[in-house]
Amino acid sequence: MQLFDSHAHLTDPAFNSDRKTLIENVLPQDGIAGVAEIGCSPEEWQETLTLADEYRGFIFPVLGVHPENASKFTAAQETLLSTLIQRACAVGEIGLDYTCLEVADKDLQQHLFMQMLRLASLHEKTAVLHVRRTAEDYSVYDDTFALLKQYFTAPKKRPYAGVLHCFCARYEEAEKALDEGFLLGINGCFTYKKNEYIREAVKKAGPSYLVLETDCPYLSPQGKRGQRNDPSNLALLAPFVADYLGVEPETLAEITTRNTKALYGLE
Ligand SMILES: [Zn+2]
Repeated sequence: MQLFDSHAHLTDPAFNSDRKTLIENVLPQDGIAGVAEIGCSPEEWQETLTLADEYRGFIFPVLGVHPENASKFTAAQETLLSTLIQRACAVGEIGLDYTCLEVADKDLQQHLFMQMLRLASLHEKTAVLHVRRTAEDYSVYDDTFALLKQYFTAPKKRPYAGVLHCFCARYEEAEKALDEGFLLGINGCFTYKKNEYIREAVKKAGPSYLVLETDCPYLSPQGKRGQRNDPSNLALLAPFVADYLGVEPETLAEITTRNTKALYGLE
């Protein structure tokens, strides 16, 4: 079974003690065929590209600016990103996060998101979306889709516009994402007991529109919660998701690996 982690943060200090062993020995043995590494603050861009250069063909860089960094983003950083982005396979993670309005208000976040969407459109890259709501207020999705429609043009050479990373919403939101050409990124959240609504929405969407991700070092799957997450945990996630959707784990692995490669323009 070959699995592809569509969203990881391996440059995180949580991996400082064993990054090399993990990437060179553990992940290949556990059937991990590739990892998309997300560098979403200016401090992480160079490190992300360096890691991807070191493990070419296994680690693929995605660069952008996370909404929580909206108040610190400078014009000089924007210029730098417009150069570095040519080496990235997508722009991300970008979007709106209404749980961190105290560090960056809605106006700042929406302005940054617009800049990132224009950058992705200009360079014909797919977009890795981070969308986070507060409690039962789903308006952050309305704002996201409105900005997408206004400022984003999906790359012509790829079959998908991007991915709604860490999918944790209802079928209503899933359907809107699929209509815009986005895939759904499924991670440990899918396995948590209280998240039946996520499982139902994903089941209704069907396996064809999914990619698997860890978002490591965060969001370990049920059974490993509280521990550091890493891409090898996809070997736990895939059978769990496959079982719920009523498909063979190998089938799900095949579909999601193919989708991830298409999403990032690999091969
Ligand atoms: Zn992430």
